[in-house]
Formats: sequence, C-alpha cells, structure tokens
Amino acid sequence: MRLLVIEDDKDLNRQLTTALQQAGYVVDSAFDGEEGHFLGDTEPYDAVLLDIGLPKLEGISVLEKWRQDGRKMPVLMLTARDRWGDKVQGFDAGADDYVAKPFHMEEVLARLRALMRRAAGHATSEFVCGPVRLDTKAGRVIVDGNPVRLTSHEYRLLAYMMHHTGRIVSRTELVEHLYDQDFDRDSNTIEVFIGRLRKKLGVDIIQTIRGLGYLIAAPVESAINAIKPAK
Ligand code: CA
Repeated sequence: MRLLVIEDDKDLNRQLTTALQQAGYVVDSAFDGEEGHFLGDTEPYDAVLLDIGLPKLEGISVLEKWRQDGRKMPVLMLTARDRWGDKVQGFDAGADDYVAKPFHMEEVLARLRALMRRAAGHATSEFVCGPVRLDTKAGRVIVDGNPVRLTSHEYRLLAYMMHHTGRIVSRTELVEHLYDQDFDRDSNTIEVFIGRLRKKLGVDIIQTIRGLGYLIAAPVESAINAIKPAK
C-alpha cells in the first residue's frame, strides 16, 4: 500500500513517514499544499494523510480540488485540537476521517488501516482467502494455521492483492502501489516477487492472467455471509 503524507512541519512529517514505513507502507511526503495536491493528482495512493494548515494551498482546498477532479482515495485529516470548524469543513470537502494533534501514532495507523479496508469493502482488519489469512493489524500472514514469514515487499504485494480480490491487478498497478516515486520501476521485478510469494505461501491463490496481470479470486465465504440474514 502506498501512502502520501502532506505536512509542513518537517519534524512531524519525518516522524509520520518513518512510522508508516516501519509499519510496511510505501510513503511519499510533501511539505506544502501545492506539492501535495500535485502528487495526489498524478500518483495513485491508497490513502492520504493531509494536514489542514498548509502553506501555498490550504489542506481544505487541496481536498476540494481532488474531489472535484474525481480523485477518490481515502483521506485522513490532521487537525489542530481546538479547531472544530476545520473538521466540519474538511468532512464537507470530502475527508474520510480525522485525527487531532497531538496524536498517538498508533491511532493514526489504526485509522489508516480502517480507511483502507473500508475502501476495499471490508469490515474487519483480517482478510481471508481460502487457507490464507492476512492480519493487517498484526502484519501477519497465516496459511492453514501456520505463520508464514514474508519480507516487507512480499507482504505489501500480498496485502495489496488481498485488498483487491475479485479483480485483475496489472503489473503497472502493482509497481505504482508498491514502490515510491523514486524507485526504478521495472515491472519484471513484480514477476519475481509473485513467484517467491507463491512459493512461500505454498498454496495456489494468485492466478496469472496472461497479458493482463494477476488475480486473487474473491473468497466464496464473503459471498455466503453477504446473503445470510443478519442476526
Ligand atoms: Ca501545518
């Protein structure tokens, strides 16, 4: 999953970026509204952390422009604690959630996970596909009850695929969501990672769709659950 952090406070930007990278995300950072708006407009992000008080272009305006242009990625606002008006404006502009400063990093991480899984249509932090369970909270992968050790690249790849089950994901899309903007984007590396991932998982859940990309079929259980009457 690839994230964008837009925060003009250099220390805070660095802390956020570092914490998110440690949590396994690919992170780009911007330090003013113009740069942030440009990145969010041109690069595909799975979620954005957007400070409201920004130089050059206010956070609210950044968000309004994106939404007007049809950019739908989940946006978590960073607001000052006593500025309730910012939150109202932010939600009206199309924000999905907020955290007030000063915040605990754990809360930011939890809210981002929630935003991304909701964007993927999931209600819990665990993604299940056949024998494979992906626990996005613990950053763990379990196959047939046994934990599987993955590198951060492999984990990111699997997490992205499991957030998008039931549709074909192209190599280009994977490259765009798994690497930051400075990475040498050779889509052949994706094939290598898919190969390693299949080997480590030991089960055949990732299909190659020739000429198009890869597919993890949507789990049948979720379809059954969807038609069960609620208790
Ligand atoms: Ca600020």
